[in-house]
Amino acid sequence: TCQDPGMRMVTLADGVPVPCLGLGTWRMGESRSSHAADVAAVRQALELGYRLIDTAEMYGAGGAERVVGEALRGASQAGTVRREDVFLVTKVLPGNASRKGTVAACERSLDRLGVDRVDLYLLHWRGGHPLRETVAAFEALRERGRIRAWGVSNFDVDDMDELWSVADGPRCLANQVYYSASERGIEFDLLPAQRRRSVATMAYCPIDQGALASDPTLAEIGRRLGASAAQVALAWVLRQPDVIAIPKAGRERHLRENLAAAALKLTDGDLAAIDARFAPPRRKQRLAMT
Ligand code: NAP
Repeated sequence: TCQDPGMRMVTLADGVPVPCLGLGTWRMGESRSSHAADVAAVRQALELGYRLIDTAEMYGAGGAERVVGEALRGASQAGTVRREDVFLVTKVLPGNASRKGTVAACERSLDRLGVDRVDLYLLHWRGGHPLRETVAAFEALRERGRIRAWGVSNFDVDDMDELWSVADGPRCLANQVYYSASERGIEFDLLPAQRRRSVATMAYCPIDQGALASDPTLAEIGRRLGASAAQVALAWVLRQPDVIAIPKAGRERHLRENLAAAALKLTDGDLAAIDARFAPPRRKQRLAMT
């Protein structure tokens, strides 16, 4: 499942392999006028070989999930992919994350996506509902086969500690957080804590919402490697075996570049130059969020 022979895989704690690089969909499905172009972009990503897609009920108030569903259906009908070849991630809004609300939100997401199961279901960020309720709902959905696995997003170390203390909390397989060369605070504590617990880290905004594509230091390194600054930013995030990156791209050139970045290797010299540009954290930093 989800195997593209050229793509490195990250194995989740349940043994399921996930491509180390996928497609983000924030800001897709937000308007009727952009709907067709958004569907075309996701469809093209599937044709190019993307086998991991990240979305959320929040994006475009369900519109992004509809875009993903339409692209997936089109690509399946054309014989480009089978549903089971694509690892689908979506998220429940914290306001919906009660015991019953989570299950209902998941059913709505499945409906918009046009699938009967998502591969990974995340709590988008912490809200008012007790974690044990959300976890109980996730486990019920997993047992019913509506989700294959679950995780969280925007959880800092204290949130993870709390999660690990509730019943079934240790079944959390991933935490999706802001992580890029310019936002690397998690390296101080969260990343090592997750590593100890075999929780995969999914890096959102790995190009810092496009800003790192024009960073002079990354561009300079890229020139030596025959790569763009954005590709260097992605290769930097992916230098670690348990980190998954989900850059968003709508343009074909970006889609192609980002996919190719998964195979790009940085040297120790490149990494030192990036440390000099963006210092590694020496103390606790609060988790960055967008
Ligand atoms: P990002 O992936 O760091 O950056 C996306 C921006 O960079 C887009 O404007 C895109 O342009 C541009 N870009 C992409 N590839 C490029 C390239 N090779 N060269 C130059 N520019 C490039 O930021 P993001 O979209 O905020 O984050 C990625 C995904 O993470 C989101 O889409 C979403 O799925 C997820 N996310 C999750 C959370 C959360 O709370 N869990 C928060 C934020 C994001 P074009 O689109 O024009 O190609």
